[in-house]
Amino acid sequence: MDGTDSPQAAIHLVLLGPPGAGKGTQARLLEERFGLVQLSTGDMLRAAVAAGTEAGQQAKAVMEAGDLVSDAIVIAILRDRLAAPDCARGTILDGFPRTTVQAEALDALMAERGQRIGAAISLEVDDAAMVARIAGRYSCAGCGEGWHDSFKTPAKAGVCDKCGGTEMTRRADDNAETVEQRLRAYHAQTAPLIDYYDAKGVLARVDAMADIAAVSHELSAIVTRAIA
Ligand code: AMP
Repeated sequence: MDGTDSPQAAIHLVLLGPPGAGKGTQARLLEERFGLVQLSTGDMLRAAVAAGTEAGQQAKAVMEAGDLVSDAIVIAILRDRLAAPDCARGTILDGFPRTTVQAEALDALMAERGQRIGAAISLEVDDAAMVARIAGRYSCAGCGEGWHDSFKTPAKAGVCDKCGGTEMTRRADDNAETVEQRLRAYHAQTAPLIDYYDAKGVLARVDAMADIAAVSHELSAIVTRAIA
């Protein structure tokens, strides 16, 4: 069964892990397989920067430096998005929460809706490998599908397998110095959330050094158990 052909209870998942761990790639696979909605605060912030909104203007320099955008801005963006009707199907939170304040705000938002976080999955990787992973990644400007120079190449170079698009983009913050700062921010501010969710009894740890298909297989098993 592919998991999309039968009704299932809405579940809300948190994906934890440093930049380059594969949160975006795995979130998109879970979205397809379980019919959940991927919510990436990084994507939302990049869209706000591109649109030049007030939040985007405030976030731009912070993101370029590899630091975390203020809790108030990110929580407001996430709250608005979570209120949209499609999120009632269940969501995969990719890159949120990143601080304890955000995790507590998320619990409150879930409680307001009579829901809760069904599983928090920590993608565990070596920092040293992350810099190489990030250096090679790019995505399709048309559909957002992520690609990698070595680990995930399209069948035909320069053409997106998903949508046929030929415009590929690399993120401004995927450079060596910014990645180092993003890793520092992860360890200082986000890694404590592993204990936060462990204490709630919803934590699962996954070895994310394995290849994309193996990690996806393990994540699907965790989500299937959490839904049951
Ligand atoms: P990402 O696409 O998840 O790697 O996020 C890119 C950048 O957006 C991060 O380095 C942060 O500057 C900002 N960002 C994304 N999500 C959050 C969040 N939940 N809290 C604070 N900053 C965030």
